[in-house]
Amino acid sequence: MNMKLSRTLSTMLDDPRLFRQYAYVDGKWTHGDGGREEAVQDPATGEVIGHIPWLEAEQVSATVDAAEAAFVHWRALRADERCERLLAWYDLLQANREDLAILMTLEQGKPLPDARGEVEYGASFVRWFAEEGKRTFGDTIPSPIPNATLGTLKEPVGIAALITPWNFPLAMITRKAAAAMAAGCTVIVKPAGETPFSALALAELAERAGIPAGVFNVVLGEPAEVSKVLCAEERVKAVSFTGSTRVGRLLLEQSANTVKRVSLELGGNAPFIVGPDMDPREAALAAVAAKFQTAGQDCLAADRILVHESIHDEFVEHFAERMAALTVGNGLESEVDLGPLIHRQAVEKAAVIVDDAVAKGATLVAGDQREAPGENFFMPVLLTGVTRDMKVWNEETFAPVAGITAYADDDQVIGMANDTEYGLAAYIYTHDIRRIWKLMRALEYGMVSVNSVKMTGPPVPFGGVKQSGLGREGGVTGIDEYLDTKYYCLGALGSVSGS
Ligand code: NAD
Repeated sequence: MNMKLSRTLSTMLDDPRLFRQYAYVDGKWTHGDGGREEAVQDPATGEVIGHIPWLEAEQVSATVDAAEAAFVHWRALRADERCERLLAWYDLLQANREDLAILMTLEQGKPLPDARGEVEYGASFVRWFAEEGKRTFGDTIPSPIPNATLGTLKEPVGIAALITPWNFPLAMITRKAAAAMAAGCTVIVKPAGETPFSALALAELAERAGIPAGVFNVVLGEPAEVSKVLCAEERVKAVSFTGSTRVGRLLLEQSANTVKRVSLELGGNAPFIVGPDMDPREAALAAVAAKFQTAGQDCLAADRILVHESIHDEFVEHFAERMAALTVGNGLESEVDLGPLIHRQAVEKAAVIVDDAVAKGATLVAGDQREAPGENFFMPVLLTGVTRDMKVWNEETFAPVAGITAYADDDQVIGMANDTEYGLAAYIYTHDIRRIWKLMRALEYGMVSVNSVKMTGPPVPFGGVKQSGLGREGGVTGIDEYLDTKYYCLGALGSVSGS
């Protein structure tokens, strides 16, 4: 590994052992035997912050062996015993919050305060599911069969493969892993290659928390190869994926042969609807917050801002003013609002989206890329006059590019908002209760947030409809993704048997 940076990192972290450059399989740190290594870069500076091994297919299969062996013991623990270990993990995440945030900012680029927020958010799922694991109640069923007692038991599905993205490198893992582990499953995490170190720090802390070997594993490697092995493995019973719709479709297809439980948290293209009764300034501040979090690399980002024509011009003025005050820079520096994009290709994609919009008639109100502080940075852009033939309307931009469109009435804006293959989240800003109900019912989205930018948290059933996914994470149903329902019929011995 790069010794210079490794030394820098060890001075930055209170506990340098949280920075691991191995895969974590069966409670052991491993280099794999393929000899393949990949460098991981700080997106803000382009410097190599470390290396990770790429495991071969046989090593991924060996991880399944380990998870299978561990499952026997982990599922046999009482729910309150599993809860205690998960709570110990939660305590360690909290105790090491600052180190975890620094690691995350280094590999992902987001500003340090946002990284701290994500650690807090990610840890909160561990606590939530530790408790939920004690409440996986079955049912008793009034029996239509004479002399029989009927009911259900909830049982862990088995090994779960968890494949996660780079934009939330810690929380997207804990939201899945804590649910699966609380249910009694063992997990194999495949983090994004751009952000493996948050996942590996989670493994280090899981070990310290007394989570037994083989229960929480982290495999690293060529994404398509690793996923192919995990999806083809009959012993892997569930696949939970967060990432792009393109890869989600692929995993669904690959899981068909072994008929796995598949949960998908995919892309979004959120509409942000502003009613005519809104104060344009208040709504513009909210829209800026909903658009530029994580430099726009957020599945909940307000991608299509739909503003009533009566307040459109004032809204645009306030939006541009607030946007101009955003600071772009290295996430480790103070007072930075937007860090870099994850890599150069993301910057290129954003530029294509802006050029396409301008070529098709949108107005570039603000956004000068000559001011970008480095090659992976993209300065916030504001486009008005966005129409449905533009990429900025149809694609998840995953960049700090805001597009505004004026509308005339509620029916028109409902049509506009639903005019996408995605259905993850939508925002409504209005004080008119009739409008709130009308829009909330008509919007084809898994989540609708009214007059609030913040909408997530452990008790929330997070997920989308249409091409945004299958299943829900978090909430009281999140653990069900990792549980089978076993029905039982207890007949009375000696009674006449029937069908
Ligand atoms: P991605 O689909 O490219 O990658 C996600 C994961 O899949 C990574 O671990 C990656 O290594 C792996 N992967 C990539 N190509 C693969 C292949 N061919 N076969 C198997 N695995 C493969 O997505 P990304 O760029 O990392 O993340 C951005 C996407 O994630 C956006 O679309 C965003 O909306 C979505 N996202 C959704 C949610 C949600 O909860 N709905 C949350 C965060 C991000």
